[in-house]
Amino acid sequence: MGSQNHHQLHIFFLPFIAPGHMIPMIDIARLFATRPGIKVTIIITTHNSLLFNNSIDRDIISGHQIQLHILKFPSSQVGLPEGIENFNSVTSPDMAPKLYQAISILQQSIEQLLRENHPDCIISDMFYPWTADLAKEIGCPRLVFQGTSFFSLSVMESIRCHKPHDTVSAETETFILPGLPDKIHMTRSQLPDHVRTRNSYSKLMDVIKESELRSYGVIVNSFYELEPSYADHYRNFMGRKAWQIGPVSLCIKREEKVEKHDCLSWLDSMKPNSVLYISFGSLSRFPKAQLAEIASGLEASGHPFIWVVRERGKPSEEEDDQRRWLKEDMTKGMIIRGWAPQVAILEHPAIGGFVTHCGWNSVLESVAAGVPMIAWPLYAEQFYNEKFVTEVMKIGVRVGVQEWNSLMEEGKVPVKKERVKEVVSQLMDGGDEGKEMRKRAKELGEMAKRVVEEGGSSNANYTYDRRRERPGCFNISSKSVMFRLQVGIAWPAA
Ligand code: UDP
Repeated sequence: MGSQNHHQLHIFFLPFIAPGHMIPMIDIARLFATRPGIKVTIIITTHNSLLFNNSIDRDIISGHQIQLHILKFPSSQVGLPEGIENFNSVTSPDMAPKLYQAISILQQSIEQLLRENHPDCIISDMFYPWTADLAKEIGCPRLVFQGTSFFSLSVMESIRCHKPHDTVSAETETFILPGLPDKIHMTRSQLPDHVRTRNSYSKLMDVIKESELRSYGVIVNSFYELEPSYADHYRNFMGRKAWQIGPVSLCIKREEKVEKHDCLSWLDSMKPNSVLYISFGSLSRFPKAQLAEIASGLEASGHPFIWVVRERGKPSEEEDDQRRWLKEDMTKGMIIRGWAPQVAILEHPAIGGFVTHCGWNSVLESVAAGVPMIAWPLYAEQFYNEKFVTEVMKIGVRVGVQEWNSLMEEGKVPVKKERVKEVVSQLMDGGDEGKEMRKRAKELGEMAKRVVEEGGSSNANYTYDRRRERPGCFNISSKSVMFRLQVGIAWPAA
C-alpha cells in the first residue's frame, strides 16, 4: 500500500478496452514504473492482458515495480463469446453495447480493489467517469487520460460551448470554430453523430466532461512544441491542469517479436521515402467496393506500398484475384491482414507517406517518425485531427471525405480510385508541395525525439527534479504522505 510506505507511491492505471486507448496507456504505466519510488498496478482483463504480458515481464526482470491485476471478463453474463474483450475484436455491431455492459459489471470489483489498496493516485481512462467519485472517497488524486491532442480537446470545447453548427442551415455549409488560436472551418457533416443530434452517447460524453472537471488534471499523449498555442489555450483559457508526456511510443519500447516481420525485411530492400503505408486503425472495416477503389488507385499511382486491410465478410473470387496481383508483384505492394507492427513500419527509412484515418495515436506515431500523411478521417474526433494535420501542422494532404461515419455503410464509396491516385501523387511524386510537407514532417520528427530526452519538455513532465520547482508542480496531501505531484506523480517527497 503506497500511502503506508513513505518511499513508494502506488499508482493504479485503468485503461479502456480499445487499442487506441489501451496501447498508449500501457506505455504510460510502463514509463511511470521506470521512475524510482513508483509502483504501478494496471487493472486489465484476461485476454487483454495477453497482449502486454511479455512487455510487463521484461519490465519486472529489469527491476521495475509493475504488475497486472487481472480480472475475469464477464463474457457469459453479457452473452459474448470467450475472448471478445476489446472493441477491435467485435465481429458484429450488437457486440459493442455488450462490451459497455461488461464494463459496468466490472465496475464493482474495480471499486472494491481500489478501496482495499488505497492507491496514492488513480490514472483512469476518460471512459470511466465514476473513478472521479471513487478517488474523492479514497482521498487520492485522479488523473484522466484523454487519448487525443490539445487541439482536438480545444475544438470539442469550442463546439460544446458555442454550438457553431446550430447557426448553419445545411450539412455542408461551413462555419468557423469560435475562440480558437487559428481560424478553423468545419461543416456539420464532419461532426460526430452525438454532437449533431443528442443521443445516449451525448449523455455519456456530458458525464465524462463533468468528471474531468472534478479531477486533479489531464494527461495528454502529445508534446508542447507540437501544439503550443492549443496547450496554452487548454491550460490558461479553459483553466485545466494538464501535462503532455508524449510521444509515448518514443518513450518506451513496445513488445518486439523475436522474428522480424516480413514487411520490415521487404522495406529493407526499398529506397528511402519510396513506400506508402496505408492503415485505418484498429477498428475500422471497409466495404469491399471501397477496398477495390483503393487497390486500383494504388496500382495506378505506381508507388510501392504496405496496406493493412481489415474487411467485412469473406473475400469473393474477384477479390482473391486482386490479392494475387498484389502478392505476385512484391516490388509493388504488400498486404497485411491482421496486426501490423505500425511503429516499426513508420520508423523505417523506406516509408515516405502514411494514408491514415487520423486516429490520434497514428497521427502522433507518424509525427514521431517524421512521415507526412494523407488524411482520410472516418469517425470519433478524426475530422478534428485531419484539420490539425493539414491546416495547423501542414504535413498532410486531405483525401477530401466530407462525412463523419462511425460504420462505413455497404454500398457507399466516398473515395474513388482517381482521387486515391491523385493524392498519392501529390505527396509521393516529388512535387514542391510534397517536398515541403516531408521537410516539415522530418523537422517535427526530430523535435519529437528531443522532447522525450533528458531536459526535453515531455521528459520534464514525468521526471521530478527538486531544483526545477515550477508552477506546474503541486503539493498534494494524501493520508499521511505528502508527495509532490508533477505529472500527478513525482518522487521523492521532501
Ligand atoms: N496499431 C498497430 N497495428 C495495426 C493497427 C493499429 O500497431 O495493425 C496501433 C497503432 O500503432 C496505434 C493504435 O493501434 O497505436 C491505433 O490507435 P489510433 O488512435 O491510431 O486509431 P484507433 O484504432 O483508435 O481508431
